[in-house]
Amino acid sequence: MRQPLVAGNWKMNGSRASVFELLTGIREGVKTVPGVEVLVCPPYIYIPEVQGQLHGAPVSWGGQDLSLQESGAYTGEVSGPMLVDFGCSYVIVGHSERRSYHVESDEQVAAKFAAALQSGLTPILCVGETLEQREQNTTEEVVARQLNAVIELCGIAMLGMGVIAYEPVWAIGTGKTATPEQAQDVHGFIRGMLAQQDSAVAEKIRILYGGSMKPSNAAELIGKPDIDGGLIGGASLKAEDFIGICQAANN
Ligand code: PEP
Repeated sequence: MRQPLVAGNWKMNGSRASVFELLTGIREGVKTVPGVEVLVCPPYIYIPEVQGQLHGAPVSWGGQDLSLQESGAYTGEVSGPMLVDFGCSYVIVGHSERRSYHVESDEQVAAKFAAALQSGLTPILCVGETLEQREQNTTEEVVARQLNAVIELCGIAMLGMGVIAYEPVWAIGTGKTATPEQAQDVHGFIRGMLAQQDSAVAEKIRILYGGSMKPSNAAELIGKPDIDGGLIGGASLKAEDFIGICQAANN
């Protein structure tokens, strides 16, 4: 049985005041979702605040990205060991915004996946197709290529130490959610693809859905057999909505 994971990706949003208010609501609301693992991924600069405010709460925190390097002359970057130093347990790698705005290749994302594991962080590997790729019927090819880059570098057993997030790019921040059937089709494809290499990894690994998930559509999505929770952008910025999604995953 895979425990659902609901992860909030705050992206570049927040202020000290709004972070305080959001975490106050999450701390309170998380008491209603004992069956769900809850995670927040704030902008780096708020991580110490998050660490302080979540002390003792059943909520984890993590980074939205990490450097390929451990330390050194890499202006503006934050490394895996630094995230661990501030209590992070997860880190997102290969988010589509990093793949597109920062031109991160499949190989770089795979190397970040490896760097995260090396630091003792659990990587959340984002994969997903653009609208154009979906319309060209290449969704499975794209997702397989993104996954295979990690498998080639790290091996299937190491992939199994992470979490996968299927995030169709056309559904991120657009209000257009994949239907539960569309999402399940891709999640089923991913699990089937992994099962061909290692059935234990395929059975155990959590595959989250991300893309305009909200309290009103979360239950139907997470109710699908291969959807093990969500990676939430916009709706993770309001405690009520984020906890509403966690409650949908708790049932
Ligand atoms: C995301 O960016 O990971 C995401 C899923 O965003 P949103 O929920 O806003 O679509």
